[in-house]
Amino acid sequence: MIKETVQVGNPLIRTKSKRVAVPSAQTRKIVSALVESMRHHDLVGMAAPQIGSPTRIFVTEVRRTKVRDPKSLDPLRVFVNPKIIHSSTREVLGWEGCGSVAFSGLFGKVRRPQSVTVRAQDIEGVSFELHASGLLARIIQHEVDHLNGTLFIDRASSKTLMSANEYRKAQGRKP
Ligand SMILES: [Zn+2]
Repeated sequence: MIKETVQVGNPLIRTKSKRVAVPSAQTRKIVSALVESMRHHDLVGMAAPQIGSPTRIFVTEVRRTKVRDPKSLDPLRVFVNPKIIHSSTREVLGWEGCGSVAFSGLFGKVRRPQSVTVRAQDIEGVSFELHASGLLARIIQHEVDHLNGTLFIDRASSKTLMSANEYRKAQGRKP
């Protein structure tokens, strides 16, 4: 089921989300709504609080677009009860936006570790560890932040903030 993205200002987006039991019917329902909503809203990741469920679940998928670097494409992944167990000391600056911040209408530069290792459960409750770098590492950190009520605008330097149109112009794309 496609859900509206909960927007900044709604207390739900600032809530610390709770761990969930897996496998469970509830978790399956949340994951399926997240996947549908992420694709509908054209996002590369979406966390359960963004669809109004304060649970520790997020999904990621870097789909092919005209402007996206083909090397950054990544298949659909589901993370339940995730924990970042290692972050690189090397940090990088990168652009971020968020479906919950003015419906992806604002972009800003955020400094984050270049790579992370995350431990999580899949939809069947099986534990796994994933080492990610580049765009996927950034998405994972952004989504884990959502589970703790943190938004990218809390981490972005405010002088880098741009409207979506100005951001696309600055990237040399049509607004
Ligand atoms: Zn977000």
